[in-house]
Amino acid sequence: MRIDIITLFPEMFEPVLNESIIGRAQKSGAIEIVCHQLRDFAFDKHRRVDDTPYGGGMGMLMKAEPIALCFEDICAKLGTRPHFVYMSPQGKTLNQKRLKELAEIDNICILCGHYEGVDQRVLDEFIDEEVSIGDYVLTGGEIPAMVFADALCRMVPGVLTNNECFTEESHFNGLLEYPQYTKPAVWRGIEVPEVLMSGHHANVEKWRREKSIEVTRKKRPDLLE
Ligand code: SAM
Repeated sequence: MRIDIITLFPEMFEPVLNESIIGRAQKSGAIEIVCHQLRDFAFDKHRRVDDTPYGGGMGMLMKAEPIALCFEDICAKLGTRPHFVYMSPQGKTLNQKRLKELAEIDNICILCGHYEGVDQRVLDEFIDEEVSIGDYVLTGGEIPAMVFADALCRMVPGVLTNNECFTEESHFNGLLEYPQYTKPAVWRGIEVPEVLMSGHHANVEKWRREKSIEVTRKKRPDLLE
């Protein structure tokens, strides 16, 4: 999978997406994440990427043309048109089900808004999908884009050790994950559940399934409906 990110702040992505699991996956070639500085595509007299909104109101809006030029440049260089996503509090709230579908796509381009958002015309003409990370408003689309890219990339084959790392996790099959324990077997007098020490695979599976349902019922009963 290749992810292109259009942003006014590419340097924000460096420390997050080049570290740990996602950083290693980029080095191994399992995924590729490329950030594009939107200012490089501001070719008008004042090289502006934002301007005041028609009709008045607070704040600035991101201009349409630099975004269009940047996306067209990405398409030309890739030789294909990526699925173009705008991070937006007005989009559908991201969930694991949609992420599973999107993780099948080879090329995704993410637009990060800033200020008051983006000129509607470029959204209407170019954007395939608006994605929100929740019903609240952040100052920019960079943190939402990092959340989206991280959640997508960990489902790409070769990024985690094996697929069970994510298929067993909360939300993948509509349930929350069962409780987990590591060494020592007794910590401050509290023992790890005996079944997990039994070595009996089928019993461990049964216990985990039951706990998964129990935890979901307790923490997120809405998921069971
Ligand atoms: N004026 C916009 C509105 O009311 O819908 C909000 C603009 S917000 C201050 C600036 C940018 O942050 C947005 O263009 C978007 O890219 C990003 N953003 C803010 N909240 C977000 C959320 N919950 N999910 C995804 N992106 C978000």
